[in-house]
Amino acid sequence: MSGAQAVRSRFSSPVTTMINLLDQNRENLNLLFDDKPYRGSQIFNWIYGKGIRDIHQMSNIPGQLRDELAKKAVISYPDVVEIQRSSDGTEKIAYRLADGHIIESVLMPEKDHWSVCVSSQAGCAMGCTFCCTATLGFIRNLGLAEIMAQVLYPIHAYPERTFRNVVFMGMGEPLLNYDTVIDAIRILSDPDGPRISKRRITISTCGIIPRLKTLGRDTEVGLAVSLNAVTDATRAGIMPVTRKYPLTELIDTLKGYQLPNRRRITIEYVLLKGINDSILDARQLIRLLHGLKVKVNLIPLNPWPGCTLEPPDTTTVLAFEEQLKDSPIAVMRRKEKGNDILAACGQLAGGKSHGGTKTY
Ligand code: SF4
Repeated sequence: MSGAQAVRSRFSSPVTTMINLLDQNRENLNLLFDDKPYRGSQIFNWIYGKGIRDIHQMSNIPGQLRDELAKKAVISYPDVVEIQRSSDGTEKIAYRLADGHIIESVLMPEKDHWSVCVSSQAGCAMGCTFCCTATLGFIRNLGLAEIMAQVLYPIHAYPERTFRNVVFMGMGEPLLNYDTVIDAIRILSDPDGPRISKRRITISTCGIIPRLKTLGRDTEVGLAVSLNAVTDATRAGIMPVTRKYPLTELIDTLKGYQLPNRRRITIEYVLLKGINDSILDARQLIRLLHGLKVKVNLIPLNPWPGCTLEPPDTTTVLAFEEQLKDSPIAVMRRKEKGNDILAACGQLAGGKSHGGTKTY
């Protein structure tokens, strides 16, 4: 039975568990009302466009139908259990999922708008040694509602802010929760939904090659690849995924990646003292990326309690950056935000980044 059929049969069955409407894509919502699929579109707009949480607020749905729907469905968000504010304005939100797990997302203020960094999994199986999320191990993939809530909650809790960018750079490897992430992107960019332009959505991956081969075809969002080393030996030491998907195969896949017009792939490079930060590494990076449409983001490591790695000193970071600036590759040093609340890149761990288990 397809997901859509399962939803429809649960909806039409007299004995049913509650459906979370926030967990349904457009196709599933339309199928709830076989005879009048436009009702699905109306509900889609109420949930994802207007962000309502009470079925009875759907004023263009007849009262009797609303009553019927409310007996079988809910609009359920994970609970917000903590909001921390950094001295630089960044905010970290902790959500408790229905099964008790905690995930985090980050709101980042820009000059005239905000960006939301969302999680796609609880924990992560990838084991990158510089990342606090990895210490949790893999817990589970997030459902559609759990991803959508991380964008809808701030949009509607802070109507005075303009949320323009969504980046899948929080907890988890988004390409290992592929179908749900693609569903979320379609809803986020839908004209009846939150209307986030696909140009302003970015997926960051450690390089899951089979999924990279379909991603550019399935959606036209921006792509960031967490590279962090120029040889398989060094990369495998900090990113175990390299043993399965070696660098040459990753670079070849990126060469064939179907990029949206005038876009460049972002190469993320976390600088780790004594591991990947030498001038030789910088030169090899230039050679490795030759022929690719990329820009490089240099990210000196953001340490977290228990992290055994260190960032390089400023002189080393600047020397690495200068090497890249002398090449045709565009390079920028990422201005890290939210370090004081452990909300920067690689620091999210659902309440465990502080070195212990936090009770909410
Ligand atoms: S960097 Fe990304 S892929 Fe690697 S462990 Fe952290 S969340 Fe997972």
